[in-house]
Amino acid sequence: MQIVCLDLEGVLVPEIWIEFSKRTGIPELQRTTREEPDYDKLMTYRLGILKQHGLGLPDIQKVIADMGPLPGAKEFIAWLRQQYQVVILSDTFYEFAMPLMAQLNYPTLFCHKLEADAQGFLVNYHLRMANQKQEAVKRFKELNFQVIASGDSYNDTNMLGEAHAGILFRPPENVIREFPQFPVVQDYAGLKEEILKASARL
Ligand SMILES: [Mg+2]
Repeated sequence: MQIVCLDLEGVLVPEIWIEFSKRTGIPELQRTTREEPDYDKLMTYRLGILKQHGLGLPDIQKVIADMGPLPGAKEFIAWLRQQYQVVILSDTFYEFAMPLMAQLNYPTLFCHKLEADAQGFLVNYHLRMANQKQEAVKRFKELNFQVIASGDSYNDTNMLGEAHAGILFRPPENVIREFPQFPVVQDYAGLKEEILKASARL
């Protein structure tokens, strides 16, 4: 029995912080773990910037809803869910992802949580656990699933390595170079093909 685990941002939806920054014209929100490796500092900074600009959760969710999923994502995930059990493993937050998940017909999503105050401003974030992508794959294996996983970036490589089959979706050059063991696909047709190939092989 097989299960497919997918990363969310960069695979089914845009990079949420980057796209949010473009749409709101707040360049400070482009900052990522590349510039600020301390995740806690980065998140505290981001939440501060949102509050500074008077953006509460409803405003944020409206901008995110307008982004929409990546072109073709809705059809791809609909196809995938007919063939396999699908779980999306993401390091985003439910409050950010939900407006996009609605447009993907609510596939199962494991991610993290934000905390808002009475005025709707985001005041804190709660990571359910560290390294949850790889841990989830480990647990699915213990439940006797064969796991096929796909993601686009560095933070997916543990999950891909843990899975019985890992596939890189539109990864940056440095990830391709550093992880030559994973097949690379550039679009949903390619991903479909690699998933079917892995599925037949397992
Ligand atoms: Mg990603």
